[in-house]
Amino acid sequence: MNTRRTKCSLCEREIWYPHAQCIFHSGVSKSVEEFTDAFLEELERVNRSDTIKKFSCRSFIFPDNLQLENLFFSKDTSFDNASFGQNVSFSKTKFVGETSFRNTRFLGKISCNRTHFVGPSFWYGRFEDDAFFDNVYFENGSYFGNSRDNTYFGGRTSFRDARFARKIAFENIRFAQVTDFLRADFLGSARFNSVEFSQEASLHLTHFLEEASFLNITHKKTLYLSSMFFEKPARFHNIDFNNVLLKKSNLEEVEFLSCTWPIIQNRKAVFDEAEIYDKVKPNRNLEAETTLGLEAKFVEVGHIYKRLQMNFEKYKSYAEAGDFYVGTMEMRRKIIACKGNMLWRWLRQNLLSLEGWYRNISKYGQSYFRTLIWMSLIFTLFAIFYLLTGFRNEPNEQQMHPTIINYEISELFRKDIRTLSADYTEALVISMFVFTFQRNMPYKLSIESQIISVLEATLSASLLALFLLAIRRKFKR
Ligand SMILES: [Zn+2]
Repeated sequence: MNTRRTKCSLCEREIWYPHAQCIFHSGVSKSVEEFTDAFLEELERVNRSDTIKKFSCRSFIFPDNLQLENLFFSKDTSFDNASFGQNVSFSKTKFVGETSFRNTRFLGKISCNRTHFVGPSFWYGRFEDDAFFDNVYFENGSYFGNSRDNTYFGGRTSFRDARFARKIAFENIRFAQVTDFLRADFLGSARFNSVEFSQEASLHLTHFLEEASFLNITHKKTLYLSSMFFEKPARFHNIDFNNVLLKKSNLEEVEFLSCTWPIIQNRKAVFDEAEIYDKVKPNRNLEAETTLGLEAKFVEVGHIYKRLQMNFEKYKSYAEAGDFYVGTMEMRRKIIACKGNMLWRWLRQNLLSLEGWYRNISKYGQSYFRTLIWMSLIFTLFAIFYLLTGFRNEPNEQQMHPTIINYEISELFRKDIRTLSADYTEALVISMFVFTFQRNMPYKLSIESQIISVLEATLSASLLALFLLAIRRKFKR
């Protein structure tokens, strides 16, 4: 007797004659027209039914070039364990219930342009090719990956202008190609945890209304965290900021923990600055670039440092705050020297600006040691000047006639060492009196020496001020 089954082994539907399963579950190559007709009929049946609570597309095998556009899924929908072929489109389709794509495989490109999801979960999903979620509206909590299962995006992935109305989590995800969140809006809390970007990735112009956290983010190419806006405090934990652009993001309320920063001249810096000096620019795939003149770039980077400085001061991380303060000042120093030829720019940066001298003398108030070196340099150097400009000691009981000491420059090299060191010691005493603002020194200075001493006293006063400032900074920490 013929006991041929008429029901699909995976569901209760009629088999797709002459195959063993229904058209949805059959692994046999199928025409997209025939499949679409059957699918739309099934969708219609589910949407109209009062008893069916969930549209189960579990383990469905979808054909290539499937267009499920402008549709309406009124029930919860499950695509768990389903597999999609090449070129699937859900554009402008609305899923009113919860949609789950657990362990779903997308073998080709998927487009969800202007799709409306209510709480989709893509757990342990595999997107083998490009995935476009541009302008998608995620009405409820949405989950891409979770703490146990990893999701893989093998092609270019885009969430441009997507709107996440509630909580969103991207966890345990690897984006193998260029990834773009340009202008995405996160209205609920957002969590990016253990996300790997293998190529360029951009969160340029994203907007976060609630708490945002970026934990354990790894990236192999440029990561654009630029022009991001955080309304509430955000957390950046365990991120390497080499190759990360931060310009125009409001970083005042961001908590940075266990992060690595690029190092420029022994200070923690941002990649935006390193990039200015980097002559070889890599090819850019993303729209986060701003083409600015040199001066405007320094201004922009200066703003980043200012924000980071304020941030780290707030969290009482004074070492970093100090480094970013130096960054702010370095940008100011570079801004004033953007014009002219190389020599002029060098002079302006180093010798012909207050910023330049502030840096030379105390590393912008960060190094009292550097100031101390300058103080000893000025103190010993001016003693030589006094030898050259002349002075005499005051007559006293032992010595009726004053000794006049006034060297020619050449004498500095000809005098025997004993006389020279004796005279230099006396000049050092003068220098010390002047340097420490002592009156009644036992020497009479020539007019030239008096002029020199005014100069020394002025320098001494300035250095002392800078020294005290640096010491104060040190102890404030
Ligand atoms: Zn079936």
